[in-house]
Amino acid sequence: MFENIKKEFPVFEKDPELVFLDTAASSLKPKIVIDEIMKCYSYEYANIHRGIYKLSSQLTTKYEENRKKIGKFINAESSENIIITKSATESINLVCSCFCQKYLKPGDEIIISHLEHHANIVPWQIASEKYGFKIIFVDINPSTGSLDLQDLKNKINENTKFISLTHMSNVTGSITDTETLNNYRKKYNIPLLLDGCQMVAHSPVDVKNLNCDFYVFSGHKLYGPSGIGVLYMKDKWFEKFEPYQGGGSMIDQVTTDKTTFAKGFQKFEAGTPPIVQLIGLGKSIDFVSSLNLVQIQKCEKELYNYAIEKLSKINKLNIIGHSKNKGGILSFTVQDIHPQDIALILDQKNIALRTGQHCAEPLHRKLKIDSTARASFGVYNSKNDVDKLHDGIINLINFFN
Ligand SMILES: *Cc1c(COP(=O)(O)O)cnc(C)c1O
Repeated sequence: MFENIKKEFPVFEKDPELVFLDTAASSLKPKIVIDEIMKCYSYEYANIHRGIYKLSSQLTTKYEENRKKIGKFINAESSENIIITKSATESINLVCSCFCQKYLKPGDEIIISHLEHHANIVPWQIASEKYGFKIIFVDINPSTGSLDLQDLKNKINENTKFISLTHMSNVTGSITDTETLNNYRKKYNIPLLLDGCQMVAHSPVDVKNLNCDFYVFSGHKLYGPSGIGVLYMKDKWFEKFEPYQGGGSMIDQVTTDKTTFAKGFQKFEAGTPPIVQLIGLGKSIDFVSSLNLVQIQKCEKELYNYAIEKLSKINKLNIIGHSKNKGGILSFTVQDIHPQDIALILDQKNIALRTGQHCAEPLHRKLKIDSTARASFGVYNSKNDVDKLHDGIINLINFFN
């Protein structure tokens, strides 16, 4: 665990007893991110990319430095491969829309899985209605809650035109075995999108090593602001894709007859971007980097193992997903108690966790569970939090008996 880390998060000054176990939905914000946002709005703010005057040009420089920081953070070939969006959801919609419009027709297939967040299901369904391709769902292994790679292998064929999968499940915490996945898709050279929303805050990510075509994540699950998303895209797609949205900034020349588009990432960044959000995200990357993501992964794993050991001793508690390779996400149900009641009663003990379907309804259907309670860990959590969760659940069971 990280010594004194709660001091970095102002919310714990106000409420030192808060047990926050909902990082998978959105993480708390450290002071350095909040301060940076305050500073930027207070003293540095102007619109970027257009102004000649100092405020604008200085903030433009700072903005582009932060794009570089993101590129380095995920080991992209260059910062030119980084497109700034407003969320991971928008990043997926961008890729889906650009790819399907150009490449997909009836008879084609794309592959996603039962593990996906709605953000990686619904855009494909909308596009499928429009272009007539088929969406093939890869099965999961119900006991581990991880992708069934054999099923994936069986479902890949010459009609498969795209694969879009979560890098880490936001419900079962299972991490996708990208090495095996890459072996399977090699034969047909199928492009791959990885949804890294849950991964980036908890483990080092290297897109070159992952060899994916697209990688997406959001700022707000990485201790940064909401309203900003990232899309990493391999070089070759920049030329192939038509613009996703039209507007200012993404153009080269505009006349009443015709518009020519900017090149590179600019082509996909229409309108005023989330300026201060990117500056804030830069600080949150500094924050996790200073703690060291290898260390973060180690600490969260330790905490997860501690939680599993403690919670699995509770008879009526059923843990969802036992994959070997997983992050600090622990979903569970308690026999005879509705997850809604679990959250309500734990909230009275100042324990914040999420219940429901976590934007993954197909997964819950597959597991034949209405809803689950989910405890997810961040850098500010400690064994003490797990102890309180454990005691809270015991009290709850006694209460209902
Ligand atoms: C949160 C999440 C998303 C969507 O992110 P937004 O920030 O809501 O756009 C997509 N996939 C996974 C796995 C997530 O956890």
